[in-house]
Amino acid sequence: MKQVVVIGAGPAGASAAYFLSALGFEVLVVEKQQFPRNKTCGGGVTPKVLQELHFSLETVIEKTIKQTILTNNNNLPITITREHPMVYMVERAKFDQFLLDKAVETGAKLKYGKVIKIVSVNDGYEVQLADGTVIAADYIIGADGAQGVSYKHVNYRNNRELAVTVEAEIPNYHDLSSILVDYGIHLLE
Ligand SMILES: Cc1cc2nc3c(=O)[nH]c(=O)nc-3n(C[C@H](O)[C@H](O)[C@H](O)COP(=O)(O)OP(=O)(O)OC[C@H]3O[C@@H](n4cnc5c(N)ncnc54)[C@H](O)[C@@H]3O)c2cc1C
Repeated sequence: MKQVVVIGAGPAGASAAYFLSALGFEVLVVEKQQFPRNKTCGGGVTPKVLQELHFSLETVIEKTIKQTILTNNNNLPITITREHPMVYMVERAKFDQFLLDKAVETGAKLKYGKVIKIVSVNDGYEVQLADGTVIAADYIIGADGAQGVSYKHVNYRNNRELAVTVEAEIPNYHDLSSILVDYGIHLLE
């Protein structure tokens, strides 16, 4: 039995764990944050995602959106309305927990811990956790985000430039049956 270690239990890791478990792989998901955990996100899930999944997301969909308002620095609004759903809104804490539960129900194991290093060995990998645990893996799925330890292991691009981002949750002052997407550069004073 080949052991797959999935690093990170966000939507990417949980769905990879779900599909691989359904195919009969032995899957261990390693996650550093206690779930349910929040993740800054608009929470929009496209209809295409629903088609890809084997199960319904009905219990975690908060709203179905058929209208999008596009603005540029809060000006020049363009409203796009469709008869069919454009996007489904979810709360990430609930959505991510739901996907992780699906993976675990399908046979994936979950271990809480922070991966600090991945070491390539002859016949696979060793995944080292902050608490000293070492896990052997035939395959690794790095689903720990763009700044994660997996990214550093493959050293995909080491000449990238850095930027600073500020993330905040703001209320939608518009009609709650629509979403607002503002394309703009907001410089901090
Ligand atoms: C402001 C904002 C709005 C967005 N809006 C949308 C939207 O409306 N719709 C949409 O589809 N996408 C949206 N996105 C993008 C979306 O949030 C990401 O694409 C998505 O979360 C990526 O999922 P993931 O599973 O790859 O990573 P994540 O959701 O980031 O999950 C990674 C997981 O890995 C864990 N982890 C990290 N390092 C380690 C480690 N060393 N050891 C163990 N675990 C680790 C983390 O704790 C985390 O749980 C938005 C993003 C932002 C910033």
